Formats: sequence, structure tokens, C-alpha cells
Amino acid sequence: MKVKVDRSVCTGCELCVGLSPKLFALNADLTARAIREDVPRELVEECRDTADACPVFAIQVSGV
Ligand code: SF4
Repeated sequence: MKVKVDRSVCTGCELCVGLSPKLFALNADLTARAIREDVPRELVEECRDTADACPVFAIQVSGV
């Protein structure tokens, strides 16, 4: 599974960073980024939950 953050809609609320610090970090411009594009198998469920929790649906996941 792959993950990325649409920075054009991210509000920088940091929810994803708090929920999934191994996958997301904050940029200097206060938008979030995916630390790694390929999600390790053990973090797939956490990644999906975090994407669902993003209030503006900025986290995009693809693949299985
Ligand atoms: S939860 Fe969504 S809006 Fe908040 S920082 Fe993460 S990607 Fe951006």
C-alpha cells in the first residue's frame, strides 16, 4: 500500500502525526508529509485509520 498527503488541502492540524508518527511528519510550512511512500505491512491498518481520521481527507492511500 502507498500513502501520500495532498498538501493543497492539509490544514496542518497534526492529527496524523500524533496518531501515526512512524508514517507522518510535519513540514516546515506546517503541512504534513508521508515519511515513507510505501507503508510497511505492520502499519497498513494504522495508516488506513489515520487516513480516515484526517478531517479534510488529505491522506490518500492506494493499493493493498
Ligand atoms: S490529519 Fe490531515 S489535515 Fe491534519 S495534518 Fe494530517 S494530513 Fe494534514
